[in-house]
Amino acid sequence: MASRSESQESGVNEDLDSENIVKADEPVGNLSKYYALPPDFSGAPKKGHLMFDACFESGNLGRVDYITEFEYDLFIRPDTCNPRFRVWFNFTVENTAPYQRVIFNVVNFSKTKSLYREGMTPLVKSTSRPNWQRIPAKNCFYYRCPDHRKNYVLSFAFAFDNDTDVYQFAYCFPYTYSRLQTFLEGLDKRNMECYKRELLCLTIQQRRVDLLTVTSPENMKDDLKKRVIFITARIHPGETPSSYVCQGVIDFLVSSHPVAKVLRDYLVFKIVPMLNPDGVVLGNYRCSLMGFDLNRHWQEPSPWAHPTLVACKNHLMQLDEDENVHLDFYIDIHAHSTMMNGFMYGNIYDEEERFERQAVYPRLLCANAEDFSMSNTSFNKDAVKAGTGRRFLGSCLDPKTHCYTLEVSFFSYNTAVSQGMSPYTEEGYFKLGRNVARTFLDYYKLNSLVVPTKKNALKSSQRKDSNGDGKQRMSGRSDYSGKL
Ligand SMILES: [Zn+2]
Repeated sequence: MASRSESQESGVNEDLDSENIVKADEPVGNLSKYYALPPDFSGAPKKGHLMFDACFESGNLGRVDYITEFEYDLFIRPDTCNPRFRVWFNFTVENTAPYQRVIFNVVNFSKTKSLYREGMTPLVKSTSRPNWQRIPAKNCFYYRCPDHRKNYVLSFAFAFDNDTDVYQFAYCFPYTYSRLQTFLEGLDKRNMECYKRELLCLTIQQRRVDLLTVTSPENMKDDLKKRVIFITARIHPGETPSSYVCQGVIDFLVSSHPVAKVLRDYLVFKIVPMLNPDGVVLGNYRCSLMGFDLNRHWQEPSPWAHPTLVACKNHLMQLDEDENVHLDFYIDIHAHSTMMNGFMYGNIYDEEERFERQAVYPRLLCANAEDFSMSNTSFNKDAVKAGTGRRFLGSCLDPKTHCYTLEVSFFSYNTAVSQGMSPYTEEGYFKLGRNVARTFLDYYKLNSLVVPTKKNALKSSQRKDSNGDGKQRMSGRSDYSGKL
């Protein structure tokens, strides 16, 4: 495990250029069906006068400057009430001319360190090609630009090949609040006994913060002893991969996969899949409606400014105090804008045994998930992180509770097998989620907390039969990786 400076953890103001922190000319609203016209043009827009729009859920584009008919400067709209964060963009372009070629320059990023340096490129889809694709790396350039106060600029060339299409460009695969609600409504309709959805609280703008419980029906009863794993995601609204990973966890846990069944029999999963719905809808990168980075306010959240944190924290504290509950894990899922792979951050504890115990789960996950990196995983206790969920909860929950931040790259992972970069797809993020879930079986097996028991021995013998080779296999990879 590398010892890393805290500046590498997602969520640090690592590279906010001082010159870059506040600019009076930053846009404050999203563009709404805005035609970028030549300065001397008057009259109705013609074909090829590009129309930009970001007035939709999770949209973000604040301003477009027409440079020539071939080139446009694009300005990210800063987070609401917090002009320091300008990373997430998500907008549409239409009214293109046949085979029109353009260069877009994104000129006001608030970060300089970026995976664009490592070959990441923006995503695009269009009406006739509705699956997201990465723009080819040969068409993208990330460089310090003398024309923009030496800011780092991302330039990309693009050819519009169908003049009736609407094209959408985004920093990463979008995952909106509405998409989550649709996904959860789909689960509701299945009427599964192992799944419960509750309203944890409402946001300032009156959106739902959902609390899901996944476990066997017997474990839903209040007065039983239970082991609880608590997972949260999307406290940072622009970190869309965290929602894909979280959905991967949920999909696996409610499935008929034999590992999922065992996990539900012995564990209770509590999941808050979106901690900052307002920020997600607004198209922010890091902040809430009121401009707060919620992952710096766990210590003393206020009911009026951080209601989702208050509700989540209260629920966690109730679990911690409940003598029938062992709160074994708290995992908060994020996405990382400068590092590759999936990896974790944990805490540094004075007790050696606790510190060692904490390293077990990441090691097991590393064995199960080819994209998870143990060398990127690190433990720290930097002061600047004191307000994060992982740090705060690690200091106040029972010492037996493991608290982690799970990070996944916005871009890519390296594998020993491929010996090169494998850019993440939506499916790649889902898969990491499935691996996160099934690794709990390995963890509890190792700690002899789940197996062997009478009930479980029965299950494994049933699976032994289905393997047909007479061998009992309970641990993850060799048995189930093919199905994952
Ligand atoms: Zn984050």
